[in-house]
Amino acid sequence: MEKGIADILARAEERSEALDERDLARLVALAPGSDEEAALFAAAYRVKCRMVGRRVSIRGLIEAGNVCAKDCLYCGIRRSNTRLERYSLGADEIVALARRAKGFGYASVVIQSGEIESEAHTAFIEDVLRRISPLDLGVTLSLGEQSEQTYRRWKEAGASRYLLRIETSSPALYARIHPAGHSWRRRRDCIAALGRCGYQVGTGVMCGLPGQTAEDLARDIVFYRDIGAHMIGMGPWLPHHDAPLKREEGGKGLGDPLALGLRMIAATRLFLHDANIAAATALQALAQDGREKGVLAGANVIMPNITDTRYRRAYQLYDGKPCLGENAELCRQCLDRRLEAIGEKILYNERGDSLRFAASRN
Ligand code: SAH
Ligand code: SF4
Repeated sequence: MEKGIADILARAEERSEALDERDLARLVALAPGSDEEAALFAAAYRVKCRMVGRRVSIRGLIEAGNVCAKDCLYCGIRRSNTRLERYSLGADEIVALARRAKGFGYASVVIQSGEIESEAHTAFIEDVLRRISPLDLGVTLSLGEQSEQTYRRWKEAGASRYLLRIETSSPALYARIHPAGHSWRRRRDCIAALGRCGYQVGTGVMCGLPGQTAEDLARDIVFYRDIGAHMIGMGPWLPHHDAPLKREEGGKGLGDPLALGLRMIAATRLFLHDANIAAATALQALAQDGREKGVLAGANVIMPNITDTRYRRAYQLYDGKPCLGENAELCRQCLDRRLEAIGEKILYNERGDSLRFAASRN
C-alpha cells in the first residue's frame, strides 16, 4: 500500500479532525477495488466500532407526503413533475406509523416529506408531534427549509433532530443542480438556525453529481464540522427518469457511485469520529447489500422505510428505489438477517442519540 495513504489513515484513526482538505480529497479519490480503498474502509470501521461498538441504530422512516414547493433538478417529486400522484398522510396515519415503529422496538422515527411552508402545515406538524410525544420516541424531522420560528415551534412540540442536507457545500455546484430561486445561502442559514434551536443537526450531500470533484467532496466533509453537524446522511446521486439532471455524456466523474458513496462515509467517519452517520437507502438502490457495505465503511444508522407500501411508488426521489413492495415487517426481518450476517446488532429500544451532540453540550 502507498505509504502516503497509510500515514493519512494512521493519523485519522488516532484522532478526530486530524486531516486537512488535501488528505480528505486523496481518500475520496482512491481507486475502487484498490488495497488503499480496502484499508480506508477497514480504518473507518475500526473507528465506528471504537465509538459505538458493533451496533447499528435504527430510525423508522415515514414518508409523510410528496407535495413539494421546490423544483430541485435531480428529484423525482419536484414541483414540475406532473406524472405523479400527490399524497399527504393524515395526522392519524402518521401517528399510527409511529406506533408501529414503537411496536417494532424502533425507538426513533424520521418524518420526511416535500417542502411546504405555510402556517397550516406548521400547525399540522405541531399537532402530529404533540400526539406522538407520549410514545417517547426520538423524532427526527426532514421537512426542508423553514423559518427559525417554525423550527422552534416544532422543537417545542417534541422534535429533537432535524435533517437538512446542504446537497453540496459548493455554491456554484448547488446553482447548477437547482433552478432560479433556490438559494444555497438560505439552506446554509437554515442549518445554522437548527443548531441555534437546540436540535441534533443532520446534514449531508449527494455524491457523484455531474462536475463534482474529490476536492468538492473533501470540502463537504470540512463543511460538516464547520456548520456544527452532529449527524450525517449522504448517498450517491441517482438519476430519475422524469427529472432534468442527467448523467453527463461520457463523463464518468469519480467512478462507480456506490464505491464513491462508501468512500465518503469512510472519510467522514475518520474525520468526525463521534458523529452519527447514516447508510442511506440510495446505497441499497445500487446493491442489495449497499447498507451493510455502508456500515462496514463506518456508518452506524439505518433508516428502514415503514410507510405503507401503497404510497412508496409515489415517493421516488430517484430511479431504482428498493423495497417498493415490502412492508415494514418484512423490511425489519430482512434488516435483522442482513446485519447479523456481518456481525452487527440492531440497537432495539434505544434512541441512539449522536455522541457528537452530547459532546457539544459538555
Ligand atoms: N424535501 C426535503 C426532504 C426530502 S428530500 C429536503 O429536500 O430536504 C431528501 C433528500 O433526498 C434530499 O436532501 C436529497 O439529497 C435526496 N435526493 C433527492 N433526489 C435525489 C436523487 N435523485 N438521488 C439521490 N438523492 C436524492
Ligand atoms: Fe422537494 Fe426535497 Fe425533492 Fe427538492 S429534494 S424537490 S425540496 S423533495
